[in-house]
Amino acid sequence: MKIFCAPDGLSAETINNNQNELLLATIDYARQMSPFYKEILQNAGTLQSAAHAREYLDKLPFTTKQDISNNNWNFLAVKKQDIAEFVSTSGTTGEPVFLALTENDLERLTCSEERNFNTINAGKEDLFHIVVTCDNLFTAGIAYYRGLIRRGASVARIGPKSIIRHFQLIKELRPTGIVAVPSFMHYLIRHANEIGINIPDLGIEKIVLIGDSIRNTDFSTNTLGSFIENSFRRKVFSTYGISEGQISFGECEFHHGLHGHTDFVYVEIVSDEGIPLQDGEIGEMVITTLQHEGMPLIRYKTGDITFKLSGQCLCGKNSVRIGPVLGRKHHRLKVKGVTLYPKTIENAIFHLKDVINYQLEAYTGDTKTDHIILRIGSHRNDDKFRSSLIDILRAKTRVVPEIEIASPNEIEKKLFEGGSRKAITFKDRRIKLHE
Ligand SMILES: [Zn+2]
Repeated sequence: MKIFCAPDGLSAETINNNQNELLLATIDYARQMSPFYKEILQNAGTLQSAAHAREYLDKLPFTTKQDISNNNWNFLAVKKQDIAEFVSTSGTTGEPVFLALTENDLERLTCSEERNFNTINAGKEDLFHIVVTCDNLFTAGIAYYRGLIRRGASVARIGPKSIIRHFQLIKELRPTGIVAVPSFMHYLIRHANEIGINIPDLGIEKIVLIGDSIRNTDFSTNTLGSFIENSFRRKVFSTYGISEGQISFGECEFHHGLHGHTDFVYVEIVSDEGIPLQDGEIGEMVITTLQHEGMPLIRYKTGDITFKLSGQCLCGKNSVRIGPVLGRKHHRLKVKGVTLYPKTIENAIFHLKDVINYQLEAYTGDTKTDHIILRIGSHRNDDKFRSSLIDILRAKTRVVPEIEIASPNEIEKKLFEGGSRKAITFKDRRIKLHE
């Protein structure tokens, strides 16, 4: 099967027709090749034609990460000898879920990243400093790497190294672009300020971010994004990917949502009850992979909360766009009638000069509602500092959690409690009544 990589600039009608054909092909392929989907699709009856693909899809059950965890190799739709690469992502309870990519799947990945970089005019003149991990079974780093090479750009695969090493290499190689997570950029800026480096002098012009959102729901830039943009005096480009589906989304120069690749993914947004929502309505993103050979997914619940836009973008593209990811569904908090995600609180306080580190903890209170403790690591612990924190939280999140201020060392210990390799910025101790 040769990958169909649609050109940019297709009309909404052509995109719609292409997606119907690709959905039909995906359903036929999964029925024949994926042991997991075989039974589900046989029970659902036959899909007669591409024109009926969406109504057929609407009736299919959702697939969850737990399904992949429970039946990992039943999702494999190719022979083992046809697998080009294995990647993994963490499962619901932390154990890894494995994903298999064929050579065509790698091409599919390359094609989507090439388009993302084309959109931001990255090409032959550029050298990109890649901070994202390119090994240890991660996909994202390799996707950026392949997309950039295909665009004719140069790359330096650094990965997560010490900040000193990053500065050495930036000084030596003079990259024009960088791919990193926002928290790394935040760290880089703070460190540069400490050692007296003027950030714009680094010469980095194209900043591609993955991970935490840098936009608000109205697409204005949030505190984290503004901090990076103001420091570099450049607009930054947000990207988003889902390892399970081997798909990516990226912003165009209008920064009005993340463009999806309609030849590789069909996107739905659904309510808590699983009802498909309209454009602009916030819910969980559900994806159906198109042209994915190794492990196709049908109606896969990503757990990410966002919204979609189907109309034409200011850049002229008609491809589906998604809003910023507001948080993970199972992290959603409800505090005194206000619904919010831990990221909203983190985003309100992370940039404050005296906040060195922090941890949020949620627990179920006596009244069965969510309560939050915000632990701040700071060298300050005076009333003025505390009341400034309260003011900012009230203004930006409409919620004032219980605040505990401790030394940064004490918070550091809590972040890595139990030998965790990754800082636990959100600790969920709530009693789960459902899910
Ligand atoms: Zn656009």
